[in-house]
Amino acid sequence: MFDFTATTTVVTGGAQGIGRAVVDYLLQCRGNVAALDIDSEAGEELLADHQGNERLLFLPADVGNEQEVVASVARIADCFGTVDSLVNNAGIAAPSNDPVEHLALEDWDAMLRVNLTGAFLMVKHAAPHLGRQRGAIVNMASTRALQSEANTEAYAASKGGLMALTHALAVSFSGRIRVNAVLPGWIDVSSLKKEAKKFDPQLSDEDHRQHPAGRVGLPGDIAALTAFLLSREAGFITGQSFVADGGMTRKMIYIE
Ligand code: NAD
Repeated sequence: MFDFTATTTVVTGGAQGIGRAVVDYLLQCRGNVAALDIDSEAGEELLADHQGNERLLFLPADVGNEQEVVASVARIADCFGTVDSLVNNAGIAAPSNDPVEHLALEDWDAMLRVNLTGAFLMVKHAAPHLGRQRGAIVNMASTRALQSEANTEAYAASKGGLMALTHALAVSFSGRIRVNAVLPGWIDVSSLKKEAKKFDPQLSDEDHRQHPAGRVGLPGDIAALTAFLLSREAGFITGQSFVADGGMTRKMIYIE
């Protein structure tokens, strides 16, 4: 476990799934955590699970809405007196499974607005705080930035954009803020959904066995890597992208 005592991390999309695992992990590392999420019901469940923990703040907000981002960052700085790290994790995968010839501009825009513009807005308004001490940012991209299934153009573009944003920011923030990206593969988040959305993933042996690591990923796998990249121990790492996919992108695939 890393020591995040007296530091504050903002985690977008922090009420469910991977973001929720990052929130839980950083709280265990004794840090202050501000979870920002558009889903208030999930946020209430997060607070209930950590009842009485004054190091956790939940704020309902849409990362694609600049006014809400500005108000949230101000509230977090006011509450904890500092903002040291940011995890741009909020993301959506739908709606955009239409073939590109039929992909509506509004669906393309909706994807980019949350997955990429949301990260830009968070960085834009958190950076003045992050830069005061040595700050760190982790952008939650995806192995979809590197490889694709058919009809996933908007999602792939949003995650590729996040990878590029990562190295651009790392250079712009030289000496002040380290910026890295995490690229998860298949992560089973079913257990960290809000009650109304919890589901049995019914993963087969084949699902697990096709991963060189022998299993489908868990949110905790991504939380541990994210915490490392935010920690003092990662002080020499910036501008990089880290794949955590159980080896799937390293597998040669031949069709007989
Ligand atoms: P999830 O749907 O379980 O959680 C995402 C959270 O983000 C939800 O709580 C949701 O309410 C919140 N959110 C959505 N839109 C928002 C907005 N506009 N403003 C604020 N919050 C918003 O998803 P997940 O599987 O945990 O994915 C988390 C991140 O990891 C995403 O960026 C996703 O693209 C990425 N990722 C996930 C996987 C996977 O297999 N689960 C793989 C690769 C990358």
